[in-house]
Amino acid sequence: MMYDTAIIGGGLAGLTAAIHLSQKNHRVIVFEKQMYPHHKVCGEYVSNEIMPYLKSLGVALPNVAKIDTLQFSTKKGNSITVKLPLGGIGISRFAFDEILFKKALELGVTFIFEAVKSIEFINDRFKIETDKATKATAKTAIGAYGKRSILDKQLQRNFIAEKSSWLGVKAHYQHPNFKDNIVALHNFKGGYGGLSKTESGAINFCYLVHYDSFKEVKDIDSFNLKVVSENPFLKSFLNEAQPLFDQPLSIAQISFQKKDAVINHILMCGDTAGLIHPLCGNGMAMAIHSAKIASELLCTYFDDAIMDRKVLETSYKKQWKSTFSYRLWIGRKLQWVLLHDSLSYILIHLVSTSPYLLRNLIKQTHGKSVKC
Ligand SMILES: Cc1cc2nc3c(=O)[nH]c(=O)nc-3n(C[C@H](O)[C@H](O)[C@H](O)COP(=O)(O)OP(=O)(O)OC[C@H]3O[C@@H](n4cnc5c(N)ncnc54)[C@H](O)[C@@H]3O)c2cc1C
Repeated sequence: MMYDTAIIGGGLAGLTAAIHLSQKNHRVIVFEKQMYPHHKVCGEYVSNEIMPYLKSLGVALPNVAKIDTLQFSTKKGNSITVKLPLGGIGISRFAFDEILFKKALELGVTFIFEAVKSIEFINDRFKIETDKATKATAKTAIGAYGKRSILDKQLQRNFIAEKSSWLGVKAHYQHPNFKDNIVALHNFKGGYGGLSKTESGAINFCYLVHYDSFKEVKDIDSFNLKVVSENPFLKSFLNEAQPLFDQPLSIAQISFQKKDAVINHILMCGDTAGLIHPLCGNGMAMAIHSAKIASELLCTYFDDAIMDRKVLETSYKKQWKSTFSYRLWIGRKLQWVLLHDSLSYILIHLVSTSPYLLRNLIKQTHGKSVKC
């Protein structure tokens, strides 16, 4: 069967695009290498930016408490609390991805639970092949396979050749009195960690750390004890909380480098097109928003005889750039500052004493509520 769109990767970006396109009666196939539900390394704070869009797609999220406040603290425990300009909710990826998956299934999307090993563009069609030799053909393709994949090698993307020194660690905890409406961001040597409550009542603790800081200790338990716990807020959290995972999840080689939004005629969505520094707490909203942009353009491409592939690709690149490149740039600058001890000390000192500056920084890294 010839599909209208093949989507590689069934995370937030891929599933959103699958729902959007199938609702407009386009034939969609999604390739996802893992079965649902599954946990993922992620801060699990979702900005309200994309809530109107999810509602318009008929995606019903669990009724969870609203998060309207950010607590920020320095390594030494100086802290500041500010109201978030847009706010958001806390929802685990275990639940979020599965809700979208079920919605896509309901709409008749085809799922193949295998890893794609190659995607080629031949005679105006995409030929996709998985590691188990399943093949499919589609008129258009969306790359939504996340931060890093074997496909990046096949597509000869520049960033894949360079090593990245960032690690992500995440686990859920039970905690007696963590407030529902708070997302906390606590700094420690070489990284920072986010805390927020999920739909199950569990608290998600997820951190990003530079390998230079981690390599001195090497295992997660000792790192939590010796480095993370230098921040008094994290120390008291880890002392009072009960871990709910046998082992924390971790990922390495997280790259924040610039990527192209279209490669070999594939429209790249979510982290596949560019990952914002998690400090900004906005990657999930960007993934969903980029799927909206790609899906709307694809619908026009299918319905409008005048729009050719070249116009489709140029329009996607242009809209992607105008919507996301400024926030990614700010995110990269923040990351750069964080890598330099003295600069990060000044920035952290400034934001921990100025709610105005902190609110303004948050605004710069978040979009406005997405119009439907
Ligand atoms: C430490 C950390 C904390 C973060 N905290 C937050 C936060 O609090 N709030 C926020 O909004 N964002 C946060 N983010 C960012 C957010 O997690 C991502 O931006 C978001 O997950 C992007 O969604 P996606 O759909 O692009 O990719 P993913 O959700 O990663 O989905 C990609 C999917 O593709 C599949 N896949 C990969 N390769 C293949 C293949 N070859 N074949 C088939 N399937 C494949 C994977 O299994 C996966 O399911 C954080 C990121 C990190 C690293």
